[in-house]
Amino acid sequence: MTTAAVIDGKAFAENLRARIAVAAAQFEVHAGRKAGLAVVLVGEDPASQVYVRSKGKQTVAAGMNSFEYKLDDNTSEGALLDVVERLNADPAVDGILVQLPLPSHIDEQKVIAAINPDKDVDGFHVVNSGRLSVGLPGFVPCTPLGCLMLLKDRLGSLSGLDAVVIGRSNIVGKPMAALLIAESCTVTVAHSRTKDLPEVVKRADIVVAAVGRAEMVKADWIKPGATVIDVGINRLPPEPGSDKGRLVGDVDYADVAKVAGAITPVPGGVGPMTIAVLLRNTLVAAHRNAGIVLDEAAL
Ligand code: NAD
Repeated sequence: MTTAAVIDGKAFAENLRARIAVAAAQFEVHAGRKAGLAVVLVGEDPASQVYVRSKGKQTVAAGMNSFEYKLDDNTSEGALLDVVERLNADPAVDGILVQLPLPSHIDEQKVIAAINPDKDVDGFHVVNSGRLSVGLPGFVPCTPLGCLMLLKDRLGSLSGLDAVVIGRSNIVGKPMAALLIAESCTVTVAHSRTKDLPEVVKRADIVVAAVGRAEMVKADWIKPGATVIDVGINRLPPEPGSDKGRLVGDVDYADVAKVAGAITPVPGGVGPMTIAVLLRNTLVAAHRNAGIVLDEAAL
């Protein structure tokens, strides 16, 4: 029985961050200032607080400025839009990220639409999704771009391969599909209404699972030798005697690894790529904003 190669996203992300740190230092010499990322957090969501702290630390470690704005849960939509406007106008800020989800009294789409698309390092603004879909330079959401980097590192050219993306969210599934189309894959996007999902997945040379259902993708859905990218992060119920359940992906890892050619683990696969790509996007934004040439493909 074959065992899939493990795609080590943690190691890839570490190398990417090291390349970013070198390029960030060169940017500082040329621009006379550091690249800067502003992160805005509204409210006390514990998972969001952990992400924001981690983003801040990694931004500074890469030699960039991190500006953090922590606003109360009851901040009005207007007050948040004012903060975004100030950041849009601030020349020290190259990238703006408003941590989602926002409290329910704030319209997320309105806030995303207020961010200057050239500082939208999350790639969520409709201008950037439009640029992605027509093949213009812009900003691509960090998680799917991280998945693409892992795929290209593993497979080289993706041209002509059959890819199935499970999930059609705006932040993962749809941009992932657009990126794979741009790499000349034949792409199928499956979702909650897809008929006979196992048969659809079975065609794929590349499977990207972004659903949010623990261990849903089974070994008998996978074409032998396929490359499997697991975006899902799900916490299982705790085992007796433990207070925290295990983290698993959307793919039944132990069994799928016996059939696939290569697979990302959870944790340690796609997860670490997201913040590394956010730093990459910020550095790209800094160069574009300052009019300094960067070999973006080499990052
Ligand atoms: P989402 O809830 O917005 O979208 C889930 C998608 O899955 C939907 O398009 C839905 O149609 C589809 N779906 C639901 N049930 C299905 C089923 N039974 N069969 C087929 N498709 C089904 O989620 P999202 O934001 O795209 O995130 C997906 C997963 O990826 C989550 O586990 C999330 O935590 C994880 N995630 C991880 C990272 C990371 O950094 N690694 C980043 C973003 C999201």
